[in-house]
Amino acid sequence: MIDPWSSAIIDYKKLRKQFGIKPFADLLADINNPLPLMSRGVVFGQRDYGRIVKAMREGNEFAVVTGMMPSGKMHIGHKMVVDQLIWYQEKGAEIYIPIADMESYAARGVDFETSRKLAITEYITNYIALGLDFADKNFHIYLQSENKVVQDLAYKLSKKVNLSELKAIYGFSNSTNLAHVYVPLIQVADILHPQLEEFGGPKPIVVPVGPDQDPHIRLTRDIAERFKSAYNFIPPSATYHRFITGLTGDKMSSSKPKTAIFLSDSPEVAVKKIKTAKTGGKETLEEQKESGGNPEECVVYEMLLYHLTPDDEKLKEAYNDCVEGKIMCGECKQNTADMVGKFFENLSFKREKAKDIAKNILNQD
Ligand code: SF4
Repeated sequence: MIDPWSSAIIDYKKLRKQFGIKPFADLLADINNPLPLMSRGVVFGQRDYGRIVKAMREGNEFAVVTGMMPSGKMHIGHKMVVDQLIWYQEKGAEIYIPIADMESYAARGVDFETSRKLAITEYITNYIALGLDFADKNFHIYLQSENKVVQDLAYKLSKKVNLSELKAIYGFSNSTNLAHVYVPLIQVADILHPQLEEFGGPKPIVVPVGPDQDPHIRLTRDIAERFKSAYNFIPPSATYHRFITGLTGDKMSSSKPKTAIFLSDSPEVAVKKIKTAKTGGKETLEEQKESGGNPEECVVYEMLLYHLTPDDEKLKEAYNDCVEGKIMCGECKQNTADMVGKFFENLSFKREKAKDIAKNILNQD
């Protein structure tokens, strides 16, 4: 069982096997101009993604749904979702972003006003600063607590779900509060509502998520089948991306500041932080010159792979220099720190400009 509200590190291979997630690599050759995150295996798994590949190839309508739960600060790992959204936006997808304030209230105890503020100052500001186009006609963002269509749909869908099923999927106990028990149904409705007739459905939907969210995907796909005759739902597709490793070598987490570079960090702080990151270097310089470093176990290299080096040739060069012992960790870290500095200078500038726009996003229709 996977608990979507805990932050345990996940065994990707086991997960794929246990829950029938297919390798993303199987479909890579059919995708026009895939994201580096896709071609480099960061997006490692999928369910029914062939349907989305077909829609993109044939220029048919499809939608992307991915929520944000406003419960803490965004870190650099969260950028992955935004990168995927921007890519889908370029492919002509409709984008739906539910702000999961009901989930945040039920599972984290965050009140609705705080969620709203956090969504604006943190998430929406960063999404705009990172390049997502909120003015696109196919872009939709909403608070769960203010979306009557989603709430009504969740209620209707809950008719065919019972408590023992939710206990088996999520491990709820007799002491789990009922708001928390109900929250997965809201998420199911978040994912399925773009398929309602009034939204131009049914249509293929893809949900890009971390593997910890797979219980929601499985539940949604099951419920879509149960209500097929009523709504003609197409079971949603999903892709799964790896988590970024934290600076200490554990999972990067907003609740553990030592592991994370936050998107709101100043360039100076971000640079300082990357210099503390765990590397895959050897004990001594001699040893490293002799047998090379281990980029697979290096947080610095991972930062290049996920975020800082879009050029495949340059990434390969960095990898080879490391494994062949041509570069030592001190120099490599300094080069990466320079890139981090530039990235965060640019992001801070864009965040400043995005702040004012972000304030008005949730007041629009
Ligand atoms: Fe990591 Fe660079 Fe050291 Fe290799 S040389 S282990 S990539 S910091």
